[in-house]
Amino acid sequence: MYSELQKIIKEHNEMMRSSIPLIASENITSTLVRKCYLSDFGHRYAEGKVGERYYAGCKFIDEVEKMAIDLTKKLFDAEHVNVQPISGVVANLAAFFALTEPEDIIFSISVPCGGHISHDKMSAAGYRGLKVVYYPFDVEEMNIDVDATKKLAKDVKPNLFVLGSSLILRHQPVREIKEIAENLDAYVMFDASHVLGLIAGRVYRNPMKEGADVLTSSTHKTFFGPQRGLILSKKELAKRIDKAVFPGVVSNHHLHSLAGYVVATMEMLEFGEAYAKQVVRNARRLAEKLYDLGYKVLGEKFGFTETHQIAIDVRDLGGGDRVARRLEEVGIIVNKNLMPWDSVDIAQNPSGIRIGVQEVTRLGMKEEEMERIAEFMDMALKDRKDLKEIRKEVKEFRKDFQTVKYSFEESDAYEIC
Ligand SMILES: *Cc1c(COP(=O)(O)O)cnc(C)c1O
Repeated sequence: MYSELQKIIKEHNEMMRSSIPLIASENITSTLVRKCYLSDFGHRYAEGKVGERYYAGCKFIDEVEKMAIDLTKKLFDAEHVNVQPISGVVANLAAFFALTEPEDIIFSISVPCGGHISHDKMSAAGYRGLKVVYYPFDVEEMNIDVDATKKLAKDVKPNLFVLGSSLILRHQPVREIKEIAENLDAYVMFDASHVLGLIAGRVYRNPMKEGADVLTSSTHKTFFGPQRGLILSKKELAKRIDKAVFPGVVSNHHLHSLAGYVVATMEMLEFGEAYAKQVVRNARRLAEKLYDLGYKVLGEKFGFTETHQIAIDVRDLGGGDRVARRLEEVGIIVNKNLMPWDSVDIAQNPSGIRIGVQEVTRLGMKEEEMERIAEFMDMALKDRKDLKEIRKEVKEFRKDFQTVKYSFEESDAYEIC
């Protein structure tokens, strides 16, 4: 039995090692981060705040959590930080509890326009009893329509404006939304799950500096940390946020991965700017190359992307499902994605695919490699070569990118430490 599991893990690692990972919500951690997972912290509890725990034995855990808080404050210039949410959705749930009452109305970006399910009725927002109204969305700009939002907000009078999304190609109008919110006495929350690493690297505008009251996030997408979450807020909301996290929605906050998060934060402080700049350069180059090859990459008018992501309308290639499967056959891993014009009912075969280049950037790829990736994709999707042959070429291509960059020591990306 155990050897069976070992074999599966090994096979998975081998698959990743020889593929081109382009899922926009993923990344790879350094060995320094992963070593923390094996520490004794992973066996412990530390309910409560630093210095005010409910159990004994937390002396060194307190030191780790204090480092996590201090480094996060420094990185994002934040007034208040809570590093205890164990994931992005849990951070959102806590923020909804802190900022709203059941029956309140929130503005969210709809799922086809890129919003995350946790901002919608079927997930965290709905489970808090919130009524969800979607922002008017400008598909050409792939962004919120501020004028139409202003008008709608006058009628609807929402209590909370949720910004940030999962398909996110643009800076979002935080300042403008804050202005609308202020007139209504409403809060603004920015879910930075996708772009946290780009904010840390100073290539994506910091929503807290633009007027957001709260920032929620996961820590493992463009921010190359362990899988967990965090909340930044203005000082005056600190108590409500902390209470909503614990005892609200978190008990154990996964202390081994908290230690790993500290390492990732140090890496971001040191290497974040170089990394984030390269991420956006890579995304743009991949978009341009695919566009030149004839693909319907969204957003020609704004240079395709201001983030790590690009989106492609693949309806004329059989839809997102067929395209993602075909690319998987050659070892290129992307996800099918709803596009703004899609109904949520066609989530199984939506119009598009979404691509993120943050992980391949962390593996050291640059513009030149983006062009190679576009060519591999084109060969697979236009049947220019036998798929098995392309798979072999992808494996060969990946051989040069086996270590994690933007860390204090370069280490094998898949070794089990
Ligand atoms: C990924 C994502 C989340 C969820 O984060 P988890 O850590 O998977 O819970 C929340 N919000 C947005 C916008 C996301 O993209």
